[in-house]
Amino acid sequence: GGVVGILGGGQLGRMLSMAAARMGLDVIIFAPESDSCASRVSADVIVAEYDDEASLVQFAKRCDVITFEFENIPASTLDIIEKAGTQVFPKSNALGCSQDRLKEKEFLTSIGIPPAPFSRVEGPEDILPALKKLGGKGVLKGRSEGYDGKGQARVDESSDPEAAWDKIGKVPAVLEAFIAFEREISVLVARGQDGQIAIFDTPENDHAGGILKSSTLPANISDATRKAAKELGQKLAEQLEYVGIIALELFVMPDGSLLANEFAPRVHNTGHWTEEACLIGQFEQHMRAVCGWPLASPERFVDIRMDNLLGDRDIASWETLAQNGSAPRIYAKRGGGEGRKLGHSNKILS
Ligand code: ATP
Ligand code: MG
Ligand code: MG
Repeated sequence: GGVVGILGGGQLGRMLSMAAARMGLDVIIFAPESDSCASRVSADVIVAEYDDEASLVQFAKRCDVITFEFENIPASTLDIIEKAGTQVFPKSNALGCSQDRLKEKEFLTSIGIPPAPFSRVEGPEDILPALKKLGGKGVLKGRSEGYDGKGQARVDESSDPEAAWDKIGKVPAVLEAFIAFEREISVLVARGQDGQIAIFDTPENDHAGGILKSSTLPANISDATRKAAKELGQKLAEQLEYVGIIALELFVMPDGSLLANEFAPRVHNTGHWTEEACLIGQFEQHMRAVCGWPLASPERFVDIRMDNLLGDRDIASWETLAQNGSAPRIYAKRGGGEGRKLGHSNKILS
């Protein structure tokens, strides 16, 4: 038994709730939206803002442990919950670091996980000098709150710095060198409360327009690169004394070396294939870690590809996918919207 609280009402919260139900746990969703897609698979929902102290205390008192599905929860939200006497996993150190791209890159550098070369940008006048330092081509990224490539602008020495600054919303930023990677991969690490580590196989990820399109297993990388990637993921989880699933996004260079893009202190879109290819998928593994259960083997039993189903696709084509031997997983979000993640589909390749 036990009651697990989840901060956040998106698809990751929805799939965490479904995993918790399979484990015999009760779930309470805490989310600001009144009709979130997570709330519709959970009997118990608190609709309130992340700074609503009274509601957070009530939530904390009803839960044995709390986790989150969304990395832009204010640090003060976790403080209120912990003061009310309920533990939150993962802890706020990972959250605080991943909420600010500058802090994140400084932290990664400090623990020996090299990020793409970067430079701090406080205003449009910083862009050209930073570009010169970084090889003439870069990606300007707002320091906080971006996802799916939002709040980013590609720039080179012919770009108008004012236009790039406007595009990202005139916020404190970092300029990253444009990386001519060979491919992208990610590492999905689970770490338990006792320090036990279980690492899923490393997916190869294809993005289009900054949004994840698909993840494929096995990744087309050497065993040495796979091993090196896993070592970086494990180091990250250990240095943060992390509990739960953490995802590290990596660029694989033509010589096989690795550069970090970013990490996410939560279950991750590039881990959705685990639900069909492993006995225990990422959502259940995360719940095991958060609840202090032993971790499951991350062994992958089949080759598989996960395709994201984005909002510009007709719902009817999801049924077609089902007929093609894929397993569509639809999030039942209210409202479509160009490029919005509305579901994903897993297809077994072997
Ligand atoms: P999410 O959190 O949804 O993964 P995000 O908004 O944080 O997305 P990033 O991960 O920073 O975005 O970038 C999205 C994609 O854009 C990357 O996966 C990669 O394909 C491309 N990209 C990002 N930074 C660079 C870079 N420095 N050089 C080349 N490509 C990049
Ligand atoms: Mg991101
Ligand atoms: Mg990313």
